[in-house]
Amino acid sequence: MGRPARTWRCLSCGDVYCDRAPNGMDQYHVCRGAEDPATAAVTPVRTPRDERIVQDRPGGPERIRQAGRGRGLLAMRDLVSGATPAERAQLRTLTPVGPLPYPEDVPTVDPRAAMPAVGE
Ligand SMILES: [Zn+2]
Repeated sequence: MGRPARTWRCLSCGDVYCDRAPNGMDQYHVCRGAEDPATAAVTPVRTPRDERIVQDRPGGPERIRQAGRGRGLLAMRDLVSGATPAERAQLRTLTPVGPLPYPEDVPTVDPRAAMPAVGE
């Protein structure tokens, strides 16, 4: 909390999303597969992204489940809420600003992999 809403493009599935809901709650993108409108068959994303926060041990550091290919920053505000499907499609064509993939807010590495020594 405390940071502004931001609009992102997922580099795994191409979806455009905002990390803050209109009610102020944080939102976490999870790739959905591409749905064929004719058959409703879903094609899974090859390297899916899942921003939901997990904790590998109680009280331990948090990380996102899976970074996938990362995300690109489109705007430091919410461009998605209230957008029509056509407007959402237009948002997908915007060029992200800043580094690609954009650095994660929460680390993606497993904290059990490398714990710093205490007292050195
Ligand atoms: Zn995605």
